[in-house]
This record gives sequence, C-alpha cells and structure tokens, in this order.
Amino acid sequence: MKIGILPVGEIAPDVLLGVQQGLVKTFPDIACTIIKRVMPVPKLAFDKKRNQYSSSVILNEIRSYASKHEKFHGVLGVVDVDIFVPELNYVFGEAYTPGKAALISLWRLKPKFYGESAGADVFLLRALKESIHELGHTLGLPHCPRSLCVMHFSNSIFDTDKKQSLLCDQCYLQAALAISNIG
Ligand SMILES: [Zn+2]
Ligand SMILES: [Zn+2]
Repeated sequence: MKIGILPVGEIAPDVLLGVQQGLVKTFPDIACTIIKRVMPVPKLAFDKKRNQYSSSVILNEIRSYASKHEKFHGVLGVVDVDIFVPELNYVFGEAYTPGKAALISLWRLKPKFYGESAGADVFLLRALKESIHELGHTLGLPHCPRSLCVMHFSNSIFDTDKKQSLLCDQCYLQAALAISNIG
C-alpha cells in the first residue's frame, strides 16, 4: 500500500519526516512518500464567523488530489490551521472511513497552544498519533473503546497524550487485513 503525505500550506519538513517514519513503523507493508508539491489551503474552507477552516472542505480537496494520483492508495493531508466540523468546536483531523483521504491539523497539537513548555518531541508524537488515527479510519477502522489504543477518539489533547502511538492487537489485525486486501 502506498501512502502520500501532502502538505496543505507550508509545513515544517521535520514534522512530515517524523510522520512518514512513524507511519512506516506502525502499519505493515506500507510505503510512504512525502509529496513535494504543496497544496494551498483552500480559501473556500475559511469560515469568517468561526475564524476557523472547514475540515470537510479541505478533506474534499485531498480526496480529489487522491483520485487524480492513483499511485497512492491513500493521501494524508497535513495542515497548520485550526479546523472544525459543524457539530464540534474543533477537530484534530478527519478522514473518510473507509476511503482514500485523511487530514490532520497541527494547530492544536503544539505545546505552545496550551501554554506548555514541552518540546518538539511531544509535538511530533502527537502529530504521529493523529496521523496513525486518521489513516486507520481510511482503512475502515472505527473508534476503539480501549483508551490507550491510537484509534481511541480524542476529545481533547489529554486523550491524545494518554493514548499510545500504537494500534491495539485487534485494530492492528483489522488494519493488516485491510492493507493485504489493497495489496
Ligand atoms: Zn477518529
Ligand atoms: Zn484498538
């Protein structure tokens, strides 16, 4: 299975690299490429009233990118703006379940956002967890009831920090099966 990591707007290369390396370690038999082309953040996604960006509008753009680039079985967009879905104040990411497009936002993963002094390692680990989580959704994985599993829903950054950057045995098996079906 080939995954493309697509920067949506300018994204620090070390974050993209960290996500790439982490994904390859997590999922069996996946190849992961960082796409050189930067996709601009779609202007249409901006919601003036909320001063945030619509996650679904961005995700839709990622899906059309994925459908034009069939060599990728999935495309993970990485954005550094605050994203939302109408029923929630914010989201860390969104994905089609199952599907070929996923999105994470770095905006609320930065320790600085919470006034924390934690360093880049904490930030990178959070980005990796959310990337695994959204990619898991594209493979058809639902939310997992185990709070330490990376497929557990993150309601806040506390949940993200609590869970591990790993799929539990059950989610891993499901992911492996989905990947072997893709080939
Ligand atoms: Zn989720
Ligand atoms: Zn699980």
